[in-house]
Amino acid sequence: MGTQGRAGEDMLTIGAFARASRLSPKALRLYDELALLPPARVDPATGYRYYAPDQLDRARTVAWLRRLGMPLARIRRVVALEATAAAREIRAFWAEVEADTAVRRDLATFLVGQLSQSSRKDTDMTGSTIELRCAALSDRGLVRSANQDAVHAGTRVLAVADGFGPSGGPASAAAVAALVPLEDRAPSDAFDGELGVLGVLADAVREAHRTVGAIARAHPSGEESGTTLTALVQTGAGLALVHIGDSRAYLLRDGELFLITQDHTLVRSMVDEGRLTPEEAATHPQRSLLLKALGGGEAPPVPDLRLHDVRPGDRFLLCSDGVFGVITPEALRETLLASPDPLSAARSVIDLALASGAPDNISCAVAHATS
Ligand code: MN
Repeated sequence: MGTQGRAGEDMLTIGAFARASRLSPKALRLYDELALLPPARVDPATGYRYYAPDQLDRARTVAWLRRLGMPLARIRRVVALEATAAAREIRAFWAEVEADTAVRRDLATFLVGQLSQSSRKDTDMTGSTIELRCAALSDRGLVRSANQDAVHAGTRVLAVADGFGPSGGPASAAAVAALVPLEDRAPSDAFDGELGVLGVLADAVREAHRTVGAIARAHPSGEESGTTLTALVQTGAGLALVHIGDSRAYLLRDGELFLITQDHTLVRSMVDEGRLTPEEAATHPQRSLLLKALGGGEAPPVPDLRLHDVRPGDRFLLCSDGVFGVITPEALRETLLASPDPLSAARSVIDLALASGAPDNISCAVAHATS
């Protein structure tokens, strides 16, 4: 039984509208309270909600977005947009879901590996601790007047930072220095110790952010200063990876090179949203514009933090954009494969970048995992 609404069209009761839109009356009442899908008319006497047939499209869109797992606040923004902008917003949401799933998949893989390793330990007392051999080099390059990159390679910590702005040099040095104390923390075999290291790393990064911010404020200028930070820390049986900005971490495993970090850049997010192709991003004039870095802004930025498994034979490369900006992944792969030890790999990477003109500071840190 309908009622007369706008322009004399037949209005639907909440029950009829629920059936037609495949949303429950309970959900419809909630969406009304959230101003996501208010009824066309509410009877002032009874409080009954009535919906117009032309609200069905929006209701169905809301239902589909809910099935996608999109939060209600975000759905409210999406349904207020025109079609092209709404499509872009859904693509962006889905890219975030996939990135999040990838992080959780890595964590699950790590935990499975961790548990099977501890079950093996019961029978195999020889253990299978991985040893890392690390080396790092940094070079001013051929164009810049100063080197604002910083690197560290110890026995358990490997780090690259790329500073920017007037106090970019001290900023990158401070970011790397914040991680060096982790060299001395005993690697823990305990299960919670593995996960605990992520908390320790998060604390170190917050500390680095405060220090970098203080350095920037001590040298006030019109330009912003800050730094990227990409680092690996060996835990009991795996590696913890911390990453913020547009330096990168690569893994060479079984002869293949994998990029294991995502650039926190504007162009990278535009590629995720389908607004740029990867080829356009590589030559985009604003390709080094960072969405996240240490030092800038008030709130501490949230770094990517995750656990990564490590196997004998793995080779890790951390590098600043001065490296991957001029050396193709294929050339990096060949260089890592051909180098007998971490120091010669780092030397070769630097030489290759210099041979390519080295317009930016060039830095890399290399780790070889052996059993
Ligand atoms: Mn750089």
